[in-house]
Amino acid sequence: MDDEPAIVARNLRKSYGGVAAVDGVDLTVRRGEVFALLGPNGAGKTTTVEILEGYRRRDAGEVSVLGTDPARADAAWRARIGIVLQSTGEFEDLTVREVVHHFAGFYPAPYPPDDVIAQVGLAGKANARTHGLSGGQRRRLDVALGIIGRPELLFLDEPTTGFDPEARVEFWDLIRGLIALGTTIVLTTHYLDEAEALADRIAVIAGGRVAAVASPADLGGRRNAPATVAWRSPEGEPRSEQTATPTALVAELSARLGGEIPGLTVTRPTLEDVYLTMIGSGGRA
Ligand code: ATP
Repeated sequence: MDDEPAIVARNLRKSYGGVAAVDGVDLTVRRGEVFALLGPNGAGKTTTVEILEGYRRRDAGEVSVLGTDPARADAAWRARIGIVLQSTGEFEDLTVREVVHHFAGFYPAPYPPDDVIAQVGLAGKANARTHGLSGGQRRRLDVALGIIGRPELLFLDEPTTGFDPEARVEFWDLIRGLIALGTTIVLTTHYLDEAEALADRIAVIAGGRVAAVASPADLGGRRNAPATVAWRSPEGEPRSEQTATPTALVAELSARLGGEIPGLTVTRPTLEDVYLTMIGSGGRA
């Protein structure tokens, strides 16, 4: 049973006013993996994810999420899913603790609310009213509400937008804790470092279709891409060469230059390099 994928989508389609937003998406998300969706604005990520969450009707295609068609899902299915949307509603005069306790009441087996408040780094704000939270603190509350129900499958839509760098790294640790508990995670993000840090596999979505699915290390043939070896000549001139065998080149240079190679660097294409090539952008993500 647990070998069954968490999500299977086949030939998913959705148009708005005759324009295809999702144009034949195929996806399989395995249980326990972090699956990231990357793609430019308007690529169809949110539409795809909302169909998987049961919040949007598809025009065509087949979908199974935790063994159920989300278009026909019930409350019991919904309780197994956690969702962190790009923004959530207002909670008027309630405090952080009150809101998290209130949401815990919707689920059959929630995590202890005060533990979740601490996990998302809001322990010091537990008694603060939510309307006084900063943008990043507000986002942490959104995450707390997404995970309070002990979800088997968690959808995170741009979860760290507005986080400072320290908060982002803390958030990644929180996600790693959920991964260790076996949670399956679908992560939509525009941050390539976030996808690289967290994802087992990345799907690049462009123009309503899946352009590629691979691990961060393999995406776009990155692992086998030529390396660039750069160094300085004895006269101090910058030199560089692309090669499939950088170790051999470094050994040869070391022999030629008599030991240490001045200014030596060996680099391979970054995730950003292959991503931008894949979506056909000249430097815009
Ligand atoms: P972003 O990174 O900006 O969040 P996205 O990849 O999530 O983008 P979608 O929100 O799925 O993209 O949008 C895909 C396309 O569908 C866009 O062209 C968008 O304008 C269009 N679209 C989305 N929702 C609607 C709607 N309710 N009515 C009409 N068009 C829509």
